[in-house]
Amino acid sequence: KLYNQVQDLKGNIRVYCRVRPFLTGQASRFSTVDHIDEGNITIIIPSKYGKEGRKSFSFNKVFGPLATQEEVFADTQPLIRSVLDGYNVCIFAYGQTGSGKTYTMTGPSELTEESLGVNYRALSDLFLLSDQRKEVIHYDISVQMLEIYNEQVRDLLATDEIRNSSQNGINVPEASLVTVSSPSDVLNLMNTGLRNRAVGATAMNDRSSRSHSCLTVHVQGRELTSGTVIRGSMHLVDLAGSERVDKSEVTGDRLKEAQHINKSLSALGDVIASLAQKNSHVPYRNSKLTQLLQDSLGGQAKTLMFVHMSPETDALGETISTLKFAERVA
Ligand code: ADP
Ligand code: MG
Repeated sequence: KLYNQVQDLKGNIRVYCRVRPFLTGQASRFSTVDHIDEGNITIIIPSKYGKEGRKSFSFNKVFGPLATQEEVFADTQPLIRSVLDGYNVCIFAYGQTGSGKTYTMTGPSELTEESLGVNYRALSDLFLLSDQRKEVIHYDISVQMLEIYNEQVRDLLATDEIRNSSQNGINVPEASLVTVSSPSDVLNLMNTGLRNRAVGATAMNDRSSRSHSCLTVHVQGRELTSGTVIRGSMHLVDLAGSERVDKSEVTGDRLKEAQHINKSLSALGDVIASLAQKNSHVPYRNSKLTQLLQDSLGGQAKTLMFVHMSPETDALGETISTLKFAERVA
């Protein structure tokens, strides 16, 4: 029997799967999904992908095509609260280009209140909760927006490239850190970041799918009576598209990009897999992404990976490799 279990995750790593709906105007409507229930998804494998049959994968949670942004966020919310208690949290969106990563993290290009993604909802929640605690703790909240493209880190709130320091790899403190005090401040900054990201895209269509973008939120709380300081952080990462490129078809810059993406996504997979297995050696140093997030992956930190899949049968090859990636990090 074809059966695969992504085990219920130990400790601080959770993996959620999200299947996007078919898009309006899409002609073909044959779905690879046989059924979804709670944490399980069953995929139909046609004969051209080898052994014909069905294959099930389990996750901490599976969101089907009808899941709303609000429902998806409801299962993310507990992590947001823990940031105010001093935890470091990483939330990743993984999947092939077009599978819904940006939709989950940011929302669609035409944003409405209902369609706002995890990033905005997470920040609004931080403001709401910090306000509720204001008699006891004073919180300062600040954000950074970075992009990693071809293993180079760029500050999206300043357009500069961040200098690599020889010993440490990355010097993140140099990146602009902007204090925010309301959800609208955050929306404005996110727009600035998106504009800067687009600037980098000249002459290369849709660079966004070939770079990782990271919205980092730093929270510092000071207890009013004792003066005790609590620090927490949250990294919200929209990863580069995970699709494999055919090496016989791309050359030059595109090949280099593909190799960088491949390297950093597998480095991320290796780090999360070794954390899940509680290995003593965690290979953080193999990519800029994992170096950048080192302090927020492992230890007491909490990680959530949203694994996205497109429902189309055309996407099945990528869907299978996405689900296999998810299986590894479990
Ligand atoms: P990615 O960032 O992985 O490349 P996008 O988030 O841009 O993918 O999604 C591709 C398209 O599908 C966009 O037009 C997006 O608005 C739409 N889409 C993705 N997920 C959903 C969803 N859950 N519900 C409705 N539309 C979605
Ligand atoms: Mg995207």
